[in-house]
Amino acid sequence: MPALLAELIDALDTGRLRIVDLTQPLGPDTPVIGLPTQFASSPGMSIEVISRYDQNGPAWYWNTIRLGEHTGTHFDAPVHWITGKDLPDNTCETIPVRRLVGPACVIDVTVEVAKNPDFLLMPEHVAAWEKQHGTIPRGAWVLLRTGWSKRNSAREFLNVLGDGPHSPGFHKSTSELLARERDVTGVGVETVGTDAGQAGRFDPPFPNHATMHGAGKFGLASLRNLDELPPTGAVVIAAPLKIVNGSGSPLRVLAIVPERRKARARAADDAGG
Ligand code: MN
Repeated sequence: MPALLAELIDALDTGRLRIVDLTQPLGPDTPVIGLPTQFASSPGMSIEVISRYDQNGPAWYWNTIRLGEHTGTHFDAPVHWITGKDLPDNTCETIPVRRLVGPACVIDVTVEVAKNPDFLLMPEHVAAWEKQHGTIPRGAWVLLRTGWSKRNSAREFLNVLGDGPHSPGFHKSTSELLARERDVTGVGVETVGTDAGQAGRFDPPFPNHATMHGAGKFGLASLRNLDELPPTGAVVIAAPLKIVNGSGSPLRVLAIVPERRKARARAADDAGG
């Protein structure tokens, strides 16, 4: 094995690197996004047993699953939005796989979101983050850490009030900054979709989807465990199912993360100059 890959495996075996699972469990109870009633809705997951060591299959167990492409922890491909419909390599099966792996930049707005569930990430928040952690590199996965995944019930997670859902997201100008000036791979969020809950009322509606996908960028929704990632230094692997003409897909999102003690030691070194 090449030394570089042998070192990767050794680092994983010895705990110098570890894998963090950024994925929610996927099942019939997984909450799905609600849309205004004039639009078609996306079905949640249903599971039907084909056989379970019984007369339908005496030695094997398997299921039929049915679900919307955008269910649970899932990937948004550029073709998901009308702005990205004519871009090259815009569907799940045509995206070059190299683009699915990239450095993570984790922006923590947990405190702001606790005060305001409709919080929108503004360019000045990105500027403040970059002042501390460096410029967001080309090809990064920008992950918005909001603490939203700690909301355990579907009611709290979707947070639908009389005037629709309330959850955090990105201001249009921030999506433009990330897509055009930083040339990121995409954004990931803890909420049910990559736009804020109220974004159907924004101009344009769902501006993060419109901007990101129009620029050929991706989205990741319903992530969890972002609090186990450092602001920089992790690598995210987010590979959707290779669905032909797929607009998105449930997926397992993994992060490779430096071991915490080392990270703390480095932080102490940095602080010590
Ligand atoms: Mn989606």
